[in-house]
Amino acid sequence: MNILVTNDDGVFAEGLLALKTELDKIGNVFVVAPDRPRSACGHSITLHKPLRAEKVVLEDGSAAYASNGTPSDCVTLAILGIFQEPIDLVVSGINHGPNLGWDLTYSGTVSAAMEGAILGVASFAISVAGIEPKIDYTAAARFAVDLALLIDNHKLPESALLNVNVPPVAASDINGVQVTRQGKRRYVGQLDKRTDPTGRDYYWLGGDLPEDDLKEGTDVKAVADGYISVTPVHLDLTDEASIEAIRAWGVEQID
Ligand code: MN
Repeated sequence: MNILVTNDDGVFAEGLLALKTELDKIGNVFVVAPDRPRSACGHSITLHKPLRAEKVVLEDGSAAYASNGTPSDCVTLAILGIFQEPIDLVVSGINHGPNLGWDLTYSGTVSAAMEGAILGVASFAISVAGIEPKIDYTAAARFAVDLALLIDNHKLPESALLNVNVPPVAASDINGVQVTRQGKRRYVGQLDKRTDPTGRDYYWLGGDLPEDDLKEGTDVKAVADGYISVTPVHLDLTDEASIEAIRAWGVEQID
């Protein structure tokens, strides 16, 4: 199995090395990852400047490519360009921090897996849902191996990917694994208005911790309960339930 590892925390991130080290045991691992942190870059791609992929050496002595592009660019480079070998599986992570609920719309980690799915390659994203500076990636890295083997055996449905979140605890404290649906997690918007030394206003976005809707069966609830969450995600974002309702507005009668 030829496995591409990428992330959005940068090629030298600890989570990427932990993931690669475990995946090395089951396949040929290729690494193409951003040359700098790109968290929360979403699914952006680079169209108007040259894309670079420079060879670098990881902490374990292995070769990798560092790109000036986004996580999505890294997947495209790997699948369409850099390697002779066909990529069988894309694994994005291990992200430092959760990718739960509506985080998915901002996530560079998940977007890389989406790009893999778009290019027709089985893909999953994996994150440890902790925000502390020091995170233990052991349980997540081991789970990634088991999941990679399952995907290899069963094949993912077309245009689907998996989004995995692992609680930020020791492997022995994880309660199990749940297949979940995407929940709701909203960051309560906070805008700090400040003034720079030249007297111009600027803003800091962010602040508060997310507000989770801890509904049974969701990713946010599973991780809150100490379970590894595996959410099948589809590239089709259509809200099926609303098609008839929107049609009933008379939208199609507008002329
Ligand atoms: Mn990240």
